[in-house]
Amino acid sequence: MEIDDIYNEIVMEHSMNSPYKKDLKNPTCSTHAHNPSCGDDITLNIKFEDGKIVDASFTGSGCAISQSSTSIMIETLLGKTIDEAKHIVDVFVSMIDRKPISKEDKALLKNARAFESVKNMPARVKCALLAWKTAQNILDEQK
Ligand code: ZN
Repeated sequence: MEIDDIYNEIVMEHSMNSPYKKDLKNPTCSTHAHNPSCGDDITLNIKFEDGKIVDASFTGSGCAISQSSTSIMIETLLGKTIDEAKHIVDVFVSMIDRKPISKEDKALLKNARAFESVKNMPARVKCALLAWKTAQNILDEQK
């Protein structure tokens, strides 16, 4: 289960010292999510404006994978339109679900590619997907 060193560093940095782990003023939505199999607990805050994600943050606690996955997801989705964000989330979920994804789509994931090896760790899949599934629900509600 080798994770590339650079990616490993990105994951550690985001899990220990995330710039997005904070409260958010006037979020459009604030959604709590829990992963009972590991104890991960997050609240994802997103602020939409003119169909775009203009700000986002999270609070909570959990394992390094859940915390860094949430943080890196926010980094990846900030500034994106709802449709762009939906697509990126779908690509990430497909990657973890071991579905084929194109090179172009994979490039959209940027640092979130760090979690690709999680697909080989069944016990951590829910940790990695917690924030992304939550974002998927939030994005589906925006229309
Ligand atoms: Zn976890």
